[in-house]
Amino acid sequence: MDGQTVADMMLAYLGRLVDHIASAEVLGYALLASALLVAVDFVRRGFRIVWPWRKIESVLATAAIYGVNLLFGPYVLLLAKLLEDAYKATGIPHVDPFFWQGVPAWLLIPFAVFMFDIANYWSHRLMHMKWLWPIHAIHHSDPEVNGLTTYRVHVFEPLVMLTVYTVLLGWLGLPAGVLGGAAVFLGLLNFYVHVNVDWGHGPFRLLLASPRFHRWHHADVPEAYGKNLANVFPFLDVAFGTYYVPGTCRAEVGAEGVPKNDVVRLVLFPFVEWGRMVRDAIRAGRAGEGASETSDVPPLEGTSSAQ
Ligand SMILES: [Zn+2]
Ligand SMILES: [Zn+2]
Repeated sequence: MDGQTVADMMLAYLGRLVDHIASAEVLGYALLASALLVAVDFVRRGFRIVWPWRKIESVLATAAIYGVNLLFGPYVLLLAKLLEDAYKATGIPHVDPFFWQGVPAWLLIPFAVFMFDIANYWSHRLMHMKWLWPIHAIHHSDPEVNGLTTYRVHVFEPLVMLTVYTVLLGWLGLPAGVLGGAAVFLGLLNFYVHVNVDWGHGPFRLLLASPRFHRWHHADVPEAYGKNLANVFPFLDVAFGTYYVPGTCRAEVGAEGVPKNDVVRLVLFPFVEWGRMVRDAIRAGRAGEGASETSDVPPLEGTSSAQ
């Protein structure tokens, strides 16, 4: 046990998460589930094929982004290792993992899921703000949200999540097995909420995220921007003032100003956007110098126009 720090466990967890997301087996299940949904949709529409080209384009773009992530994932893990070293250097104390051995799994795993969702909520909220939005925008670029949209994430997104997990959950020292159990549940639920069906969970709508709840998160309408940020528990959005489910979501999904299915532009999007923001900031700074001596420089961070 000695020498195994929380950061080691968090890194092992991230490794498993990446393995989980990247494994051919999981992708196979995702494709099988999608094929089933397509079949159900086909029957529902009276055996008529109404699959526009934009749906096929969306799936192809998601598959290509997934391929890019397989290629660059190992480098992201290297960066995660640097973060781990930085975390170790702080010497922040944590709960002894032996403490958790006395707690039964049926209690510990839901507890871990709950703690993860609080961390997810805040990492998601951060990613909807100015400087991290260019990373998360890739997930919102899909003009046809479906189960596979789960896999449409920029390769930097797990890095942001690891950092938030390390800072917010590192002190808990939860055993690796519990983290793994929670990760499997979160992975499955994440796929489910992206499926293109209008299920709202009725009286349980605040207890478990539904496809309707998450579809509103992807809606490209100003009143839904930055809403429904929880992955599992919508009551967190109620508690933090970001809950928005006015009924069936018929709004267009996607994100204004973000390329839709252009894979190269999507992968490069963070770099292009950060470059533009830095240039803007420098320009604003110069303009400020030339203006009145008492002028206030507007803050760069904070609530932004990001969705
Ligand atoms: Zn989002
Ligand atoms: Zn989503």
